[in-house]
Amino acid sequence: MIVVFLGPPGAGKGTQAKLLSERMGFLHLSTGDILRDAVKKQTPLGMKAKEYMDRGELVPDSLIVELIENYLPEEGKVVLDGFPRTVAQAEALDDMLNSKGKELKKVILFDSPDEVIIDRLSGRRVCSSCGAVYHIRYNPPKKDGVCDLCGGALVQREDDKEQVIKNRLEVYRRQTEPLIDLYQRRGILFRMDASMNVEELFYEIERVLKVC
Ligand code: ADP
Ligand code: AMP
Repeated sequence: MIVVFLGPPGAGKGTQAKLLSERMGFLHLSTGDILRDAVKKQTPLGMKAKEYMDRGELVPDSLIVELIENYLPEEGKVVLDGFPRTVAQAEALDDMLNSKGKELKKVILFDSPDEVIIDRLSGRRVCSSCGAVYHIRYNPPKKDGVCDLCGGALVQREDDKEQVIKNRLEVYRRQTEPLIDLYQRRGILFRMDASMNVEELFYEIERVLKVC
């Protein structure tokens, strides 16, 4: 089963995808995480992607589609976090699945007002060593600035700074929001109120995934 998590940056997709992976055995495929790792390791993909990511722009479709083709397993439960983000990516995903005799059955939309998104993005801190995600108020580490899991230093992502946040939200509206209509028309869109707390939201997502 393939599930797509669709929604603006900071809506909580990664947090819920991680829970799906821990509690329900889903493979969590986050294009953002894969790209950040590639940037850190200075791979050819990372070097091409960095300038787009720093500006809050989308990385070109061709690079992302190739990345997903390499990571998408033949079988099993997979949650796609942050992909597709353009109509061209959505079409490429359909082609990939169709060629394996499969189709996308569920897209979960993380629906949330801008105030919630900005509050979540500006308070997000990530571990510079293991990538664990915290929030200064909603999920603070036990010790300020230090990762509970590995002791690494917590930092703010460059693209979580105010100016880049604004651009990322505009990019989302322009390039990703059209997917809402596309999936709604297909009858596979499940809209969630992403302003709920982490456990409430997980409960709702789990309910949708258990039906059919
Ligand atoms: P996304 O993957 O959609 O960009 P994240 O899962 O990284 O978003 O969440 C963004 C920030 O909001 C993180 O700091 C995270 O700890 C926090 N967060 C995630 N879900 C919730 C929630 N339901 N309530 C409050 N804070 C949340
Ligand atoms: P995220 O962690 O999902 O917020 O992604 C961080 C950044 O990675 C985005 O702002 C884009 O620059 C890039 N990125 C992640 N996923 C995609 C995608 N599906 N298409 C294009 N760019 C992406």
